[in-house]
Amino acid sequence: MALQPLWDFARMQEPLFRSPFFPALFSFAAYTAFCLPFVALDFFGTRVPAFRKYKLQPQSSPTLRMMALCVAQSLYHHVVCIFPVTTAHWYWRRVSLPRAAPELPSLLLSVIVALLLFDFLYFLWHLLHHRVPWLYKTFHKVHHKHTSTFALTTQYSSTWELLWLGLFTAIIPMMLKFHPLTEMTFFVANIWLSVEDHSGYDLPWSTHRLVPFGLYGGAPHHDLHHQKFKFNYAPYFTHWDWLFGTL
Ligand SMILES: [Zn+2]
Ligand SMILES: [Zn+2]
Repeated sequence: MALQPLWDFARMQEPLFRSPFFPALFSFAAYTAFCLPFVALDFFGTRVPAFRKYKLQPQSSPTLRMMALCVAQSLYHHVVCIFPVTTAHWYWRRVSLPRAAPELPSLLLSVIVALLLFDFLYFLWHLLHHRVPWLYKTFHKVHHKHTSTFALTTQYSSTWELLWLGLFTAIIPMMLKFHPLTEMTFFVANIWLSVEDHSGYDLPWSTHRLVPFGLYGGAPHHDLHHQKFKFNYAPYFTHWDWLFGTL
């Protein structure tokens, strides 16, 4: 039970988990924390050429105004959309904290399965929102405002898109009956991977370099989607785009 001490510690924070504010605050805190290193890279990258060489589109840099607009939109979405939805979810499905922690191999396998399912659901949603012009114009176009991605563009999208992403993220752990620790690990991994996808950087330790055989697309794959529009619809893995001829 490698995860038991960590889970015991987490259970001591029970009042925090039971707060209706926790899911929205947790989501915003994780998102901001994962964006910050890339924001720092964008800031120092214009001054230190060594950081610049990892940038996917070195000719473009986000301005402070572009970043501020993304932060404002993300804050707005967390207040008017994520908070009400997560509070309803919290009320409907009360937190239960079992005594035993999940086994580490089972947690890792569950998170990989959840990421594969999320990747599939978002691939279908994304393909549909590019193939139907009305859906694209009304709901998805706003996410394509930036043809060169930077971390804060991750959540720059319509409320409709954010709601679907939230639904996919919430429904997978419920369907698979995840332990709360496994569920939270999936949420954190999903936020990290979506931020990395939009980071605009191809770093030596990027996830797509750690997964063999080009099975994982990551930042170069998704940055190309923002440039070319008609390819790379899956957010993380490459198999669906390969099968549908959109890689
Ligand atoms: Zn798109
Ligand atoms: Zn995107």
